[in-house]
Amino acid sequence: MVIEVKYLFCSYFCAMQILDGKIVSQAVKDAIKIKTAALKNAGKKTPHLAAILIGNNGASETYVASKVKSCEEVGFKSSLIRLPDNLDEVALVTAIEQLNSDSDVDGILVQLPLPKHISEATIINLIHPDKDVDGFHPMSVGKMVQGLPTFIPATPYGILLMLQHYNIETKGKHAVVIGRSNIVGRPMSILLSRNAYPGNCTVTICHSHTKNLKELCLQADIIVAALGIPGFLKADMVKENAVVIDVGITRVPDDSKKSGFAIKGDVDFINVAPNCSYITPVPGGVGLMTIAALLMNTYNACEQKNIGPN
Ligand code: NAD
Repeated sequence: MVIEVKYLFCSYFCAMQILDGKIVSQAVKDAIKIKTAALKNAGKKTPHLAAILIGNNGASETYVASKVKSCEEVGFKSSLIRLPDNLDEVALVTAIEQLNSDSDVDGILVQLPLPKHISEATIINLIHPDKDVDGFHPMSVGKMVQGLPTFIPATPYGILLMLQHYNIETKGKHAVVIGRSNIVGRPMSILLSRNAYPGNCTVTICHSHTKNLKELCLQADIIVAALGIPGFLKADMVKENAVVIDVGITRVPDDSKKSGFAIKGDVDFINVAPNCSYITPVPGGVGLMTIAALLMNTYNACEQKNIGPN
């Protein structure tokens, strides 16, 4: 409620604009839905996403459920493979190999994090690059770095779609990315520096060992906060009219919620928003775009199959 009032206040009195993940992700999904219906009408194969969920992690359950629901919304087929927490690596390898060889499956995602006894790198490497809709396989990453067509990791891809939707200028801007994970920070830094739109930024990538973070953030025209520390980016770290993208999703205890927790981003939204030109809210920002981008990747994976020799 407080945030909603703040949105209203800002929309009347500030130049700041909310980057609305709900609106943009819906636009992306609507376009995918139309294209999927056209495939169906033409008697072609429609996209099929297979998700593997291991154990009962509450957040992972929620993410996978919304991915499956979004597949239904746009007319994709989806399969959810649930495996127990204590499974051995061989069982997971077998499940992935089956999906790799199933010609009906276009995209495979293994919801992270994995149980500690299973190597993420081994599992990611096993997914066939043609079905790697999360874009984490070394082949996909290598192609992305070289600017070749490939699957782009869903969160940075969703952010690019958001910047594009709002026609935000990125050329020549200084972008600071906070966080260097393989799924968000590092690919984001590469994509923002590429010779394309959105891109052509001068990028600084910051991490837990960066000494002068505040100083660097104050030089940034665009800040992508992806570190997982709620409210980390404060108003005194952000220059006037910066574009602020909040990737963070952390569950914090909140007795006023039925669930017992609230979702918080990495940005101190209430105090940072009034000085920005654009900012994403949490929830309602990047999270929704991540799912939309995953659907785009899955659609493209299927389209590759549909573009066969006549
Ligand atoms: P991660 O834990 O893998 O990486 C965190 C990064 O932040 C690390 O590179 C670390 O060096 C850096 N970091 C930590 N403390 C720092 C500090 N004090 N100063 C500067 N850098 C610091 O996390 P991740 O998987 O990249 O996720 C980051 C956040 O984004 C989490 O809240 C996660 O839940 C969220 N997330 C959201 C989406 C989405 O769709 N919105 C998708 C993926 C992740």
